[in-house]
Amino acid sequence: MIPETERALLLHQLKNYLVFLKESGHTHIPLNNELSELPVMAVPARVFRDSSPQLLDSGMKPTRPDQQSKKALEPAIRLDQVREELGDCQRCKLCDTRNTIVFGSGNPEADLVFVGEGPGADEDAQGLPFVGRAGKKLTEIIEKGMLLNREKDTYICNIVKCRPPGNRDPEKDEVDACKPFLIKQLKAIRPKVIVALGKPAASTLLGRSVPITKERGTWHEFEGMKLMLTYHPAYLLRAYTLENRRAVHEDMQKVLKVLNT
Ligand code: SF4
Repeated sequence: MIPETERALLLHQLKNYLVFLKESGHTHIPLNNELSELPVMAVPARVFRDSSPQLLDSGMKPTRPDQQSKKALEPAIRLDQVREELGDCQRCKLCDTRNTIVFGSGNPEADLVFVGEGPGADEDAQGLPFVGRAGKKLTEIIEKGMLLNREKDTYICNIVKCRPPGNRDPEKDEVDACKPFLIKQLKAIRPKVIVALGKPAASTLLGRSVPITKERGTWHEFEGMKLMLTYHPAYLLRAYTLENRRAVHEDMQKVLKVLNT
């Protein structure tokens, strides 16, 4: 028997998922041989992993509590060390106009890390990444499209930690100054999958100019970690077409498949 609280959570997430499918242009729920196209984590893995032994038959490996706490501690400590090293950073000119350094937020032991471009006005004011309109869209993608919990299942950061004035693109010298800290963050967490949101993040991680329209949805590698490229949620808001929403949805289903292996 699934406990009542988990059943309610599953139903709530299923409902959100169906709404998301509809908004993504799906007109039916895939059946039979199409089932493999459904997100493999449509049922939240964390619920199973944490408390439903009978559901572990689904193929997910249980993690012993002592292993969990050990795993949880180490990336968190490593991330703290990176933050400490960053300090009151003045390594590039963005320090002159920022209010706060937006280091990153989420779970240091997450299997999934999203990397965006840079903080905007809301993020600069709050010191947290992706809290404005684009952030809400990203949360929707994570929670309604992937049925994950943003805080528990992901970690989110940007290629530059300080807001470029007027939300302009970060310049090369700024990206170069900040990139070592991004790399250290990613190595501290060592997620199963990194998702680069938009061209600047994809180009920074791959070290070349990435035509995001052509390359979104494709797998790459970054420091031994799998890297998926997709559109930035701000682009999705600007070009809110069915085609673009579907594209991001499909990219995230690919990510879910890898997360569940
Ligand atoms: S953007 Fe990065 S390198 Fe530049 S001042 Fe901020 S934290 Fe330092």
